[in-house]
Amino acid sequence: MRTHHNTDCPDEIWGADALAFDQAHLWHPYAPMTDPVPRWPVVCAEGVRLKLADGRELIDGMASWWAVIHGYNHPSLNRAAQDQIQRMAHVMFGGLTHMPAVELGRRLVALTPEPLEKIFLCDSGSVSVEVAIKMAIQYWQARGRPGKRRLLALQGAYHGDTFAAMSVCDPVTGMHHLFEGVVPKQLFASRPQCRFGDPWEPSDIADFAHLIEAHEDSLAAVILEPIAQGAGGMWFYHAEYLRQVRTLCDAHDVLLVADEIATGFGRTGRLFACEHAGIVPDMLCLGKALTGGYLTLAATLTTAEVAETISRGEPGCFMHGPTFMANPLACAVAAASIDLLLAYDWQAKVRSIESQMRMELAPCAALATVREVRVLGAIGVVETHAPVDLPTLMTRFVEAGVWLRPFGHLVYMMPPYVIDPANLSVLTGAVRCVLSEAAG
Ligand SMILES: *Cc1c(COP(=O)(O)O)cnc(C)c1O
Repeated sequence: MRTHHNTDCPDEIWGADALAFDQAHLWHPYAPMTDPVPRWPVVCAEGVRLKLADGRELIDGMASWWAVIHGYNHPSLNRAAQDQIQRMAHVMFGGLTHMPAVELGRRLVALTPEPLEKIFLCDSGSVSVEVAIKMAIQYWQARGRPGKRRLLALQGAYHGDTFAAMSVCDPVTGMHHLFEGVVPKQLFASRPQCRFGDPWEPSDIADFAHLIEAHEDSLAAVILEPIAQGAGGMWFYHAEYLRQVRTLCDAHDVLLVADEIATGFGRTGRLFACEHAGIVPDMLCLGKALTGGYLTLAATLTTAEVAETISRGEPGCFMHGPTFMANPLACAVAAASIDLLLAYDWQAKVRSIESQMRMELAPCAALATVREVRVLGAIGVVETHAPVDLPTLMTRFVEAGVWLRPFGHLVYMMPPYVIDPANLSVLTGAVRCVLSEAAG
């Protein structure tokens, strides 16, 4: 491979040795170490473009897994990071505090609905889910109901890769049988069938209603991804389902955790997906786009009632405190990312991405290999009948100048909100073209 020449992008030599080292020594997400999956060295990124070591540029359709909503290498986010790094990149949060945490906290309290107001800042989405689960268990312990410690989740869910988070992921796609005896057994309601925007079908909530009723004495919380299930199947369900879940949780004394790690910060067309149903959860998990995709940071928000109850119980505090809790650098960038989001009409932008994807992905539905096309907010999904051949498809996408990483039966895109119509057309065009080739 040749050296990359770009004034904004320092030279970086990617010889065969570097790639060989990567393949020999570095795990990649959900990838084997024995049979190297394709991987492309990226040397820098700007706006919606990734620059590869061989000089090619790809239009990014993934926002680096939902996170990079403002595009790469954004001047305001760079400035926020640079300003903060001059002061301190990190300092412990035990016994100390700092302005980046306060500034981010102020914004999160203002942005999220009442009565969410107590914020736990942690390292990653999975950890924020662990934190929410622990909070729910400590809450009921403090209320004198220690038997309430199980979770009710939805089939098709994805909540992260740590053990408690895994326990509430779909049992089949989450491979629970591999970890039998290690992953706690939770309860699962069938995946909501009634789609977002379709007429409501009251029978859709029956399974969930039955489970919460039958198990209320052992349930600490319900956890779900509101409206849009992400990595568990890219599935959009009816807002009425969510409203009824809220009502049933209240009726049966069960807390509601909304995992908005993927949906938060506008992705579904609302700032938070819960707004589609007009409900407020007892705990809200945020991550991914929180720092505009710059650094790993997540947050679990809860109510004063939950936080104060936990703090009055044994042992008088919430039992969690990561080393990098409220990392100042990440908090500073997160505050800047929120300011950036609120400074422009992101909602109009997401709406126009939505309508363009609807129009331009629609022809895929005519392919014999395609089951259906669905779009919500800035998420576009083409579901195929058979699982896609990932290495082949990804290679073809790269050849077509776009960055997309399908999984299972799903070819999907959630581009940075800053993408312009011409670049979005290149993405949707590549999907149409590559899928029709694959259809033969
Ligand atoms: C990505 C994701 C997580 C896990 O976040 P990590 O930062 O990867 O640990 C949890 N829940 C949802 C809905 C996600 O999309």
